[in-house]
Amino acid sequence: MIGAGPAGLAAAAMLQRAGVRVVVLERAEVAAAWRTRYDCLHLHTVRWLSCLPGYRMPRAFGKWPSRDRVIEYLQRYADRAAIEVRTGVEVERLDRIGAAWNVVTAQGVIEAERVVVATGYSNARYRPGWPGTFAGEIVHSADYRNPAGYAGRRVLVVGAGNSGAEIAVDLADGGAAEVLLAVRTAPTIVRRDTLGFPSQLLGIATAHLPVSVVDWIGATIRRISIPDLTPYGLPAPARPYSDFLRRRVIPILDVGLVDAVRDGRVRVVAALERFADSAAVLADGSRLEVDAVIAATGYRPALEALVGHLGVLDDRGEPVVHAAEEHRHAPGLHFVGYRVTLGGTFRLIGIQAKQLARAVAARRTREAEPVPVPS
Ligand SMILES: Cc1cc2nc3c(=O)[nH]c(=O)nc-3n(C[C@H](O)[C@H](O)[C@H](O)COP(=O)(O)OP(=O)(O)OC[C@H]3O[C@@H](n4cnc5c(N)ncnc54)[C@H](O)[C@@H]3O)c2cc1C
Repeated sequence: MIGAGPAGLAAAAMLQRAGVRVVVLERAEVAAAWRTRYDCLHLHTVRWLSCLPGYRMPRAFGKWPSRDRVIEYLQRYADRAAIEVRTGVEVERLDRIGAAWNVVTAQGVIEAERVVVATGYSNARYRPGWPGTFAGEIVHSADYRNPAGYAGRRVLVVGAGNSGAEIAVDLADGGAAEVLLAVRTAPTIVRRDTLGFPSQLLGIATAHLPVSVVDWIGATIRRISIPDLTPYGLPAPARPYSDFLRRRVIPILDVGLVDAVRDGRVRVVAALERFADSAAVLADGSRLEVDAVIAATGYRPALEALVGHLGVLDDRGEPVVHAAEEHRHAPGLHFVGYRVTLGGTFRLIGIQAKQLARAVAARRTREAEPVPVPS
């Protein structure tokens, strides 16, 4: 197993339960990605639909558990399942040698019968290479913690995903002099819950409906629950679900952006094109003098070095097989946690972990059966 985030831990726990010996190699520590995320982060998916198999999140963690609660949960999950995690071990490359896998790490090569890659869809930060030089401070959203260092400063947040939206509101509430949100494609926005009904449930329920029907449902819900933000630079996409399928960007699950945009605490501006000293030059030609830029421009799975030579990635760099599936050129190699879903990644990770464990257990049973002797 490579990676001790939710996917690696869930897959390890389910495989162990099926009687498989598992060792997890983790370059940092358990729940590393969550340990470094911004302070105000909470799950956007509801607690009872974000549990990994075999251990539920305690009710005391609240409806939308905080980042610290998620870390606590993942650490407890690893401890309860007695998962063997070797921390500080980064896997550099996988090679198929005969019937086994060579797992290449800086500390040496480990041989394994089966390998599960669970290094995360959001493994490596992505930041476009904007032309020009910027005299101010520029950081990726992965390095943003809280608004403390931004009081009294003009900040441009680039990217209207969930991180960008939340960080913009956090900055506005935390005393930044002005918060600007640069948006290239107006995002789909849904309430995190409406009258206590989490939007995640809709994402789960609509998974098997035709695209046109989900588009209609999405547009109708937005019209009913979100005010028209066109005058503020955030028009509703005409076809929200098609937009998700095309761009694979999870909608903004609103926890404050709508109000902040309407009352002027966050101002939406055009996409960032380039820098010119202390100014950001936008796609509409305007120049904004800003002190700091936060690039909420997303992440990549970054699987190329690890498995790119095995022919198991598509042209986006994402695995072509998932969970129990195996590529014919890479038998015994699995990927968990690389599907983007509106139903919640934690929930899907749990489903994939169970599918994987069932398939591996079934194969072991088949292999253990005596070969029938022809009479
Ligand atoms: C800001 C943010 C908020 C999110 N909120 C939610 C939410 O509310 N609900 C939800 O369902 N999903 C959410 N997600 C999506 C997803 O559930 C999380 O990203 C989740 O952490 C994914 O789990 P994972 O185990 O696949 O990856 P990660 O949590 O990223 O774990 C991967 C692990 O692999 C390790 N690793 C990477 N490369 C190597 C290597 N080469 N060798 C050894 N170890 C390696 C990393 O150090 C890390 O510990 C969110 C994602 C982000 C970015």
